[in-house]
Amino acid sequence: MAEISKKDQFILPEGVVYLDGNSLGPMPKTVPQRMQSVVADEWAQLLIGGWNKAGWMAMPEQVGDSVGRLIGAPKGSVVMGDTLSIKVYQALAAGVKLRPERRVILSDTGNFPSDLYIAEGLVGLLGQGYELRTVAPEDVADAIGEEIAVVMLTEVDYRTGRKHDMKTITEMAHAAGAVMVWDLAHSAGALPVDLAGSNCEFAVGCTYKYLNSGPGGPAFIYVRPDLADTVEPALAGWLGHARPFDFDLNYTPGAGIERMRVGTPPVLQLAALEESMKLWEDVDMDALRAASIALQEQFIEEVEAAAPQLTLASPRDAQVRGSQVSFRFEHGYAAMQALIARGVVGDFRAPDIMRFGFTPLYIDASDVSKAVGIIADVMNNDLWDDAQYKVRSRVT
Ligand SMILES: *Cc1c(COP(=O)(O)O)cnc(C)c1O
Repeated sequence: MAEISKKDQFILPEGVVYLDGNSLGPMPKTVPQRMQSVVADEWAQLLIGGWNKAGWMAMPEQVGDSVGRLIGAPKGSVVMGDTLSIKVYQALAAGVKLRPERRVILSDTGNFPSDLYIAEGLVGLLGQGYELRTVAPEDVADAIGEEIAVVMLTEVDYRTGRKHDMKTITEMAHAAGAVMVWDLAHSAGALPVDLAGSNCEFAVGCTYKYLNSGPGGPAFIYVRPDLADTVEPALAGWLGHARPFDFDLNYTPGAGIERMRVGTPPVLQLAALEESMKLWEDVDMDALRAASIALQEQFIEEVEAAAPQLTLASPRDAQVRGSQVSFRFEHGYAAMQALIARGVVGDFRAPDIMRFGFTPLYIDASDVSKAVGIIADVMNNDLWDDAQYKVRSRVT
């Protein structure tokens, strides 16, 4: 799998095995130079002229196209901006508007809380009998009925890595007359996604995880091209207006995906993302997926042999797993802190999940073995049982 690796193109701190690229991707080596250039040559020198001269205003669509290529979205169907929570709101609100006679948003208990909170907020605002219904992930198919306006799911469960079948669920949603919204937070850059082939109406996702745009990097939203000229963006901001610089008092949505823009784009973060996306230009997503599965299988096998205290929380079948492996351990928080102190960086998700992400662009089989050696040491010698590892930080 050597051809997948681009390890020499990332900055990774000495002595660290970074198994948290599913939460915050590391920095490609060319990003500091690009940031220097956008700050010193563009912002400092061009000042407001940068919007035109440096093409800042076109970045949300341009970078959206490069993200779109990775997720099977046609050119002009993806735009960048805001954070994922905001994009969830837009997709959900626009989806509900497409089915005005229906009142139920269906999601599952494996979804990321922010997506559910956003849905809760939206149904509270809508009133009129709108409802958010959540069922267990394995019960979603049975819960799709004629009363459902929108099915909103995250393809890969952030805790366990369990993966929904996008195509099948989308077909079921459509058969029941519902709109489908997919959250690709743990899919974009992690596995092949065929958005056009799935036929879903909306998709959203973030870029600071597998796409390495840096902390707070912009999110993306996809609208199926046949709907892009008619959907209502819900957050009707000036940069989604057809003619922002007419400063009309009334809102007229822009053409196509442009209408999903809201306000001023985060130019510095978009520049970091645009730079990071260059690494993806020649990545074969099927080869990446195969490499990711190989690393995960190796990890599971070696951890189960070396550290029986840990219980696999992810599906054993690689086909229904994303690009992460989670284990349960009662003292998971302390154990993860002990690992991080020894250079194996994963993260912890309450109540007892130790989460490890696999990113073949910069993680290889020797990293996995090294990590497992340290995990075995921490677990078998109870090295986690130390007061310094039990103090909870603000971010876990
Ligand atoms: C990471 C993640 C988020 C985070 O949303 P932000 O607005 O970017 O903080 C939301 N939803 C899912 C499914 C995620 O995995």
